[in-house]
Amino acid sequence: MTNNQRAFNFNAGPAALPLEVLEKAKQEMTNFQDSGMSVMELSHRSPTYEAVHNGAIEKLRTLLEIPEDYEVLFLQGGASTQFTMIPMNFLQGSGKKAAYLMTGSWSEKAIAETKLFGEAYEATSSKSSQYRSIPDFSSNHLNGAEAYVHLTSNNTIYGTQWHEFPETGKVPLIADMSSDIMSRPIDVSKFDMIYAGAQKNLGPSGVTIVIIKKDLLKQAHSNVPTMLRYQTHVDKNSLYNTPPTFGIYMLGEVLNWIQDQGGLNSITEKNIRKANLIYKTIDESDGFYTGHAQQSSRSYMNITFNLPNEALEKQFLNEAKKAGFTGLNGHRSVGGCRASTYNAVPEATCVALSEFMQQFQHRNS
Ligand SMILES: *Cc1c(COP(=O)(O)O)cnc(C)c1O
Repeated sequence: MTNNQRAFNFNAGPAALPLEVLEKAKQEMTNFQDSGMSVMELSHRSPTYEAVHNGAIEKLRTLLEIPEDYEVLFLQGGASTQFTMIPMNFLQGSGKKAAYLMTGSWSEKAIAETKLFGEAYEATSSKSSQYRSIPDFSSNHLNGAEAYVHLTSNNTIYGTQWHEFPETGKVPLIADMSSDIMSRPIDVSKFDMIYAGAQKNLGPSGVTIVIIKKDLLKQAHSNVPTMLRYQTHVDKNSLYNTPPTFGIYMLGEVLNWIQDQGGLNSITEKNIRKANLIYKTIDESDGFYTGHAQQSSRSYMNITFNLPNEALEKQFLNEAKKAGFTGLNGHRSVGGCRASTYNAVPEATCVALSEFMQQFQHRNS
Protein backbone atom coordinates (compact mmCIF):
# COMPACT_ATOMS: atom_id res chain seq x y z
CA MET A 1 0.00 0.00 0.00
CA THR A 2 1.34 3.38 -0.89
CA ASN A 3 0.15 6.82 0.07
CA ASN A 4 -1.22 7.55 -3.37
CA GLN A 5 -3.56 4.56 -3.27
CA ARG A 6 -5.26 6.03 -0.21
CA ALA A 7 -8.67 7.64 -0.76
CA PHE A 8 -9.39 11.24 0.13
CA ASN A 9 -11.44 9.95 3.04
CA PHE A 10 -13.93 12.34 4.66
CA ASN A 11 -16.13 9.60 6.16
CA ALA A 12 -18.06 10.62 9.28
CA GLY A 13 -17.50 7.35 11.11
CA PRO A 14 -16.04 4.82 10.87
CA ALA A 15 -13.48 7.24 9.58
CA ALA A 16 -9.90 7.62 8.38
CA LEU A 17 -7.16 6.04 10.48
CA PRO A 18 -3.51 7.08 10.42
CA LEU A 19 -1.64 5.25 7.65
CA GLU A 20 1.29 4.69 10.03
CA VAL A 21 -1.01 2.82 12.43
CA LEU A 22 -2.47 0.65 9.67
CA GLU A 23 1.02 -0.19 8.41
CA LYS A 24 2.14 -1.17 11.90
CA ALA A 25 -0.94 -3.33 12.44
CA LYS A 26 -0.28 -5.01 9.11
CA GLN A 27 3.30 -5.74 10.06
CA GLU A 28 2.26 -7.21 13.42
CA MET A 29 -0.81 -9.00 12.08
CA THR A 30 0.35 -12.61 12.04
CA ASN A 31 2.98 -12.52 14.78
CA PHE A 32 2.38 -10.02 17.54
CA GLN A 33 5.46 -9.51 19.73
CA ASP A 34 6.82 -12.98 18.99
CA SER A 35 3.68 -14.66 20.29
CA GLY A 36 3.27 -16.56 17.03
CA MET A 37 -0.25 -15.20 16.69
CA SER A 38 -2.18 -12.02 16.04
CA VAL A 39 -3.52 -9.81 18.83
CA MET A 40 -6.99 -11.16 17.94
CA GLU A 41 -5.89 -14.70 18.77
CA LEU A 42 -4.41 -13.92 22.19
CA SER A 43 -6.30 -14.81 25.35
CA HIS A 44 -7.66 -11.68 26.95
CA ARG A 45 -6.27 -13.11 30.21
CA SER A 46 -2.71 -13.39 28.87
CA PRO A 47 0.04 -11.03 30.08
CA THR A 48 0.74 -10.06 26.46
CA TYR A 49 -2.83 -8.82 25.98
CA GLU A 50 -2.98 -7.27 29.43
CA ALA A 51 -0.01 -5.08 28.55
CA VAL A 52 -1.86 -3.87 25.44
CA HIS A 53 -4.99 -3.20 27.49
CA ASN A 54 -3.31 -1.37 30.37
CA GLY A 55 -1.00 0.44 27.97
CA ALA A 56 -3.98 1.93 26.15
CA ILE A 57 -5.55 3.05 29.45
CA GLU A 58 -2.28 4.65 30.57
CA LYS A 59 -1.80 6.47 27.25
CA LEU A 60 -5.31 7.82 27.41
CA ARG A 61 -4.71 9.00 30.97
CA THR A 62 -1.46 10.71 30.01
CA LEU A 63 -2.59 12.39 26.79
CA LEU A 64 -5.91 13.67 28.18
CA GLU A 65 -4.38 14.40 31.60
CA ILE A 66 -7.12 12.43 33.34
CA PRO A 67 -7.04 13.04 37.11
CA GLU A 68 -6.51 10.14 39.55
CA ASP A 69 -10.09 10.23 40.81
CA TYR A 70 -11.46 9.07 37.45
CA GLU A 71 -11.81 5.54 36.10
CA VAL A 72 -11.16 4.71 32.45
CA LEU A 73 -13.32 1.96 30.94
CA PHE A 74 -13.48 0.18 27.58
CA LEU A 75 -17.05 -0.90 26.94
CA GLN A 76 -19.04 -2.20 23.99
CA GLY A 77 -22.36 -1.30 22.40
CA GLY A 78 -21.23 2.07 21.07
CA ALA A 79 -22.07 5.52 22.35
CA SER A 80 -25.71 4.58 21.75
CA THR A 81 -25.64 2.08 24.64
CA GLN A 82 -24.35 4.88 26.88
CA PHE A 83 -27.56 6.78 26.12
CA THR A 84 -29.28 3.95 28.05
CA MET A 85 -26.65 3.11 30.66
CA ILE A 86 -26.42 6.68 31.94
CA PRO A 87 -30.07 7.00 33.04
CA MET A 88 -30.16 3.37 34.23
CA ASN A 89 -27.26 4.05 36.56
CA PHE A 90 -27.71 7.70 37.48
CA LEU A 91 -31.34 8.71 37.02
CA GLN A 92 -33.72 5.90 37.88
CA GLY A 93 -34.62 5.84 41.55
CA SER A 94 -32.90 9.18 42.22
CA GLY A 95 -36.13 11.16 42.47
CA LYS A 96 -34.40 13.80 40.34
CA LYS A 97 -34.63 15.04 36.77
CA ALA A 98 -31.94 14.96 34.13
CA ALA A 99 -31.22 18.09 32.06
CA TYR A 100 -30.31 17.69 28.40
CA LEU A 101 -28.68 20.43 26.30
CA MET A 102 -30.08 19.85 22.85
CA THR A 103 -27.77 20.40 19.89
CA GLY A 104 -28.83 17.80 17.37
CA SER A 105 -29.87 14.27 16.52
CA TRP A 106 -27.54 12.61 19.01
CA SER A 107 -28.92 14.65 21.91
CA GLU A 108 -32.41 13.72 20.73
CA LYS A 109 -31.56 10.04 20.78
CA ALA A 110 -29.93 10.38 24.19
CA ILE A 111 -32.92 12.10 25.83
CA ALA A 112 -35.40 9.66 24.29
CA GLU A 113 -33.64 6.73 25.99
CA THR A 114 -33.47 8.64 29.25
CA LYS A 115 -37.24 9.10 29.36
CA LEU A 116 -37.60 5.30 29.58
CA PHE A 117 -36.01 5.45 33.03
CA GLY A 118 -37.13 8.72 34.57
CA GLU A 119 -37.78 12.38 34.01
CA ALA A 120 -35.66 14.33 31.58
CA TYR A 121 -36.11 17.82 30.18
CA GLU A 122 -34.53 20.03 27.55
CA ALA A 123 -32.69 22.73 29.47
CA THR A 124 -31.81 24.50 26.22
CA SER A 125 -32.11 23.74 22.52
CA SER A 126 -31.21 25.17 19.12
CA LYS A 127 -33.71 22.97 17.30
CA SER A 128 -35.87 25.92 16.19
CA SER A 129 -32.91 27.21 14.18
CA GLN A 130 -32.10 23.84 12.57
CA TYR A 131 -29.37 23.23 15.15
CA ARG A 132 -27.16 25.82 13.44
CA SER A 133 -25.64 26.95 16.70
CA ILE A 134 -24.75 25.93 20.21
CA PRO A 135 -27.62 27.34 22.29
CA ASP A 136 -27.11 29.68 25.23
CA PHE A 137 -26.97 27.97 28.54
CA SER A 138 -25.97 28.99 32.01
CA SER A 139 -26.32 27.16 35.28
CA ASN A 140 -29.04 29.70 36.20
CA HIS A 141 -31.25 27.52 34.03
CA LEU A 142 -30.80 24.67 36.52
CA ASN A 143 -32.62 24.32 39.81
CA GLY A 144 -29.60 22.61 41.38
CA ALA A 145 -31.40 19.35 42.06
CA GLU A 146 -30.83 17.69 38.68
CA ALA A 147 -29.38 14.17 38.58
CA TYR A 148 -26.99 15.40 35.89
CA VAL A 149 -26.63 17.65 32.86
CA HIS A 150 -25.91 15.98 29.52
CA LEU A 151 -24.38 17.59 26.42
CA THR A 152 -22.98 16.49 23.06
CA SER A 153 -19.61 18.22 22.66
CA ASN A 154 -19.54 17.99 18.86
CA ASN A 155 -22.54 17.57 16.64
CA THR A 156 -21.43 15.20 13.96
CA ILE A 157 -24.53 15.67 11.82
CA TYR A 158 -25.11 19.46 12.01
CA GLY A 159 -21.45 20.46 12.27
CA THR A 160 -21.46 22.48 15.47
CA GLN A 161 -19.19 22.21 18.50
CA TRP A 162 -19.09 23.51 22.06
CA HIS A 163 -16.00 25.74 22.24
CA GLU A 164 -16.50 26.58 25.91
CA PHE A 165 -18.22 24.20 28.25
CA PRO A 166 -20.89 25.38 30.69
CA GLU A 167 -20.43 25.44 34.45
CA THR A 168 -22.98 23.25 36.18
CA GLY A 169 -21.95 23.83 39.79
CA LYS A 170 -22.62 20.78 41.93
CA VAL A 171 -24.74 19.09 39.27
CA PRO A 172 -22.69 16.39 37.50
CA LEU A 173 -21.83 17.15 33.87
CA ILE A 174 -21.84 14.25 31.39
CA ALA A 175 -20.61 14.65 27.81
CA ASP A 176 -20.92 12.58 24.67
CA MET A 177 -17.58 13.32 22.99
CA SER A 178 -17.85 10.63 20.32
CA SER A 179 -16.86 12.88 17.44
CA ASP A 180 -14.25 15.15 18.98
CA ILE A 181 -12.54 13.24 21.77
CA MET A 182 -8.75 13.69 21.58
CA SER A 183 -9.09 16.36 18.90
CA ARG A 184 -8.25 19.08 21.44
CA PRO A 185 -7.09 19.36 25.04
CA ILE A 186 -9.96 19.44 27.55
CA ASP A 187 -10.16 19.97 31.27
CA VAL A 188 -11.45 16.54 32.32
CA SER A 189 -12.05 17.77 35.87
CA LYS A 190 -14.98 19.89 34.60
CA PHE A 191 -16.84 16.69 33.72
CA ASP A 192 -18.14 13.86 35.86
CA MET A 193 -18.32 11.52 32.91
CA ILE A 194 -17.13 11.57 29.31
CA TYR A 195 -17.95 8.87 26.78
CA ALA A 196 -17.14 8.26 23.13
CA GLY A 197 -17.38 5.57 20.51
CA ALA A 198 -13.85 5.12 19.16
CA GLN A 199 -14.71 5.02 15.47
CA LYS A 200 -14.49 8.73 14.69
CA ASN A 201 -11.21 9.88 16.12
CA LEU A 202 -9.60 6.97 17.90
CA GLY A 203 -9.74 3.66 16.08
CA PRO A 204 -12.08 1.07 14.64
CA SER A 205 -15.68 0.71 15.79
CA GLY A 206 -16.35 -1.69 18.65
CA VAL A 207 -14.73 0.10 21.59
CA THR A 208 -16.52 2.73 23.66
CA ILE A 209 -14.40 4.82 25.98
CA VAL A 210 -15.88 5.89 29.30
CA ILE A 211 -14.07 8.24 31.68
CA ILE A 212 -15.98 8.47 34.93
CA LYS A 213 -15.44 10.18 38.25
CA LYS A 214 -15.31 7.91 41.26
CA ASP A 215 -17.71 10.20 43.16
CA LEU A 216 -20.35 9.76 40.47
CA LEU A 217 -19.99 5.97 40.60
CA LYS A 218 -20.94 6.07 44.27
CA GLN A 219 -24.34 7.52 43.32
CA ALA A 220 -25.21 4.69 40.95
CA HIS A 221 -28.51 2.86 41.31
CA SER A 222 -28.05 -0.68 42.62
CA ASN A 223 -30.68 -2.46 40.57
CA VAL A 224 -28.99 -2.49 37.17
CA PRO A 225 -28.16 -5.61 35.12
CA THR A 226 -24.56 -6.71 35.58
CA MET A 227 -23.27 -5.82 32.11
CA LEU A 228 -24.94 -2.40 32.20
CA ARG A 229 -23.53 -1.45 35.60
CA TYR A 230 -20.44 0.76 35.41
CA GLN A 231 -19.16 -0.67 38.68
CA THR A 232 -18.94 -4.17 37.15
CA HIS A 233 -16.42 -2.92 34.62
CA VAL A 234 -14.56 -0.76 37.14
CA ASP A 235 -14.11 -3.75 39.47
CA LYS A 236 -12.68 -5.89 36.67
CA ASN A 237 -10.62 -3.28 34.81
CA SER A 238 -12.93 -3.68 31.77
CA LEU A 239 -12.15 -7.41 31.71
CA TYR A 240 -15.37 -8.71 33.27
CA ASN A 241 -16.14 -10.33 29.94
CA THR A 242 -14.19 -10.53 26.69
CA PRO A 243 -13.29 -7.01 25.61
CA PRO A 244 -12.93 -5.99 21.93
CA THR A 245 -9.23 -6.83 22.02
CA PHE A 246 -8.28 -5.84 18.48
CA GLY A 247 -10.07 -2.50 18.77
CA ILE A 248 -8.28 -1.75 22.03
CA TYR A 249 -4.94 -2.63 20.44
CA MET A 250 -5.70 -0.26 17.55
CA LEU A 251 -6.81 2.43 19.99
CA GLY A 252 -3.45 2.11 21.78
CA GLU A 253 -1.61 2.50 18.48
CA VAL A 254 -3.69 5.55 17.50
CA LEU A 255 -2.82 7.07 20.89
CA ASN A 256 0.89 6.41 20.24
CA TRP A 257 0.43 8.18 16.91
CA ILE A 258 -1.19 11.18 18.62
CA GLN A 259 1.77 11.33 20.96
CA ASP A 260 4.17 11.17 17.99
CA GLN A 261 2.27 14.09 16.44
CA GLY A 262 3.19 16.17 19.48
CA GLY A 263 0.13 15.47 21.63
CA LEU A 264 -3.18 17.28 21.80
CA ASN A 265 -1.87 20.84 21.54
CA SER A 266 -0.27 20.16 18.23
CA ILE A 267 -3.18 17.98 17.03
CA THR A 268 -5.65 20.77 17.74
CA GLU A 269 -3.56 23.34 15.87
CA LYS A 270 -3.46 21.05 12.87
CA ASN A 271 -7.20 20.35 13.09
CA ILE A 272 -8.05 24.05 13.14
CA ARG A 273 -5.76 24.68 10.17
CA LYS A 274 -7.33 21.80 8.22
CA ALA A 275 -10.93 22.85 8.90
CA ASN A 276 -10.18 26.49 8.18
CA LEU A 277 -8.89 25.60 4.71
CA ILE A 278 -12.39 24.39 3.90
CA TYR A 279 -14.29 27.08 5.83
CA LYS A 280 -12.23 29.71 4.02
CA THR A 281 -13.23 28.18 0.70
CA ILE A 282 -16.87 28.37 1.76
CA ASP A 283 -16.60 31.95 3.04
CA GLU A 284 -14.79 33.20 -0.05
CA SER A 285 -17.20 31.55 -2.50
CA ASP A 286 -19.56 34.57 -2.72
CA GLY A 287 -22.43 32.44 -1.52
CA PHE A 288 -21.88 29.51 -3.90
CA TYR A 289 -21.16 27.38 -0.84
CA THR A 290 -23.03 28.15 2.38
CA GLY A 291 -22.06 26.70 5.72
CA HIS A 292 -24.86 25.18 7.79
CA ALA A 293 -23.42 26.18 11.17
CA GLN A 294 -23.24 29.73 12.48
CA GLN A 295 -19.63 30.86 12.42
CA SER A 296 -19.13 31.01 16.19
CA SER A 297 -20.47 27.46 16.61
CA ARG A 298 -18.56 25.85 13.77
CA SER A 299 -17.10 22.41 14.34
CA TYR A 300 -13.45 21.69 13.58
CA MET A 301 -14.38 18.06 12.98
CA ASN A 302 -17.46 18.05 10.73
CA ILE A 303 -17.90 20.79 8.15
CA THR A 304 -21.46 20.96 6.82
CA PHE A 305 -22.34 22.98 3.74
CA ASN A 306 -24.78 23.37 0.90
CA LEU A 307 -24.61 24.37 -2.75
CA PRO A 308 -27.13 26.72 -4.46
CA ASN A 309 -29.55 23.87 -5.22
CA GLU A 310 -29.99 20.14 -4.90
CA ALA A 311 -29.11 19.44 -8.51
CA LEU A 312 -25.74 21.13 -8.10
CA GLU A 313 -25.20 19.29 -4.82
CA LYS A 314 -25.80 15.99 -6.57
CA GLN A 315 -23.43 16.94 -9.37
CA PHE A 316 -20.83 18.08 -6.84
CA LEU A 317 -21.00 14.80 -4.97
CA ASN A 318 -20.83 12.76 -8.19
CA GLU A 319 -17.83 14.63 -9.53
CA ALA A 320 -16.12 14.55 -6.15
CA LYS A 321 -16.53 10.80 -6.05
CA LYS A 322 -14.94 10.45 -9.47
CA ALA A 323 -12.05 12.62 -8.30
CA GLY A 324 -11.35 10.21 -5.42
CA PHE A 325 -13.20 11.89 -2.54
CA THR A 326 -15.24 9.66 -0.22
CA GLY A 327 -17.83 10.44 2.42
CA LEU A 328 -18.84 13.97 1.40
CA ASN A 329 -22.58 13.30 1.51
CA GLY A 330 -24.40 14.96 4.37
CA HIS A 331 -26.04 12.65 6.89
CA ARG A 332 -29.09 10.92 5.38
CA SER A 333 -31.32 12.85 7.79
CA VAL A 334 -30.24 16.35 6.69
CA GLY A 335 -28.77 16.07 3.18
CA GLY A 336 -26.30 18.59 1.81
CA CYS A 337 -22.56 17.99 2.08
CA ARG A 338 -20.30 17.22 4.98
CA ALA A 339 -16.53 16.88 5.24
CA SER A 340 -15.34 15.15 8.39
CA THR A 341 -11.79 16.25 9.11
CA TYR A 342 -10.89 14.08 12.10
CA ASN A 343 -7.36 13.79 13.50
CA ALA A 344 -6.20 11.21 10.98
CA VAL A 345 -7.36 13.08 7.86
CA PRO A 346 -4.13 14.46 6.38
CA GLU A 347 -3.81 18.17 5.71
CA ALA A 348 -3.07 17.38 2.05
CA THR A 349 -6.51 15.75 1.79
CA CYS A 350 -8.11 18.99 3.00
CA VAL A 351 -6.02 21.03 0.56
CA ALA A 352 -7.21 18.73 -2.23
CA LEU A 353 -10.85 19.23 -1.25
CA SER A 354 -10.47 22.99 -1.03
CA GLU A 355 -8.97 23.07 -4.54
CA PHE A 356 -11.65 20.76 -5.88
CA MET A 357 -14.37 22.99 -4.41
CA GLN A 358 -12.87 26.10 -5.99
CA GLN A 359 -12.57 24.41 -9.39
CA PHE A 360 -16.11 23.06 -9.20
CA GLN A 361 -17.42 26.53 -8.42
CA HIS A 362 -15.42 27.98 -11.31
CA ARG A 363 -16.89 25.47 -13.74
CA ASN A 364 -20.48 25.91 -12.51
CA SER A 365 -21.10 29.57 -11.80
C1 LIG B 1 -21.51 8.54 16.02
C2 LIG B 1 -22.06 9.17 17.23
C3 LIG B 1 -22.85 8.45 18.15
C4 LIG B 1 -23.25 6.99 17.92
O1 LIG B 1 -22.19 6.17 18.16
P1 LIG B 1 -22.33 4.58 18.06
O2 LIG B 1 -20.97 4.16 18.57
O3 LIG B 1 -22.59 4.24 16.65
O4 LIG B 1 -23.41 4.16 18.97
C5 LIG B 1 -23.28 9.09 19.28
N1 LIG B 1 -22.97 10.38 19.52
C6 LIG B 1 -22.23 11.10 18.65
C7 LIG B 1 -21.92 12.52 18.97
C8 LIG B 1 -21.75 10.51 17.49
O5 LIG B 1 -21.01 11.24 16.63
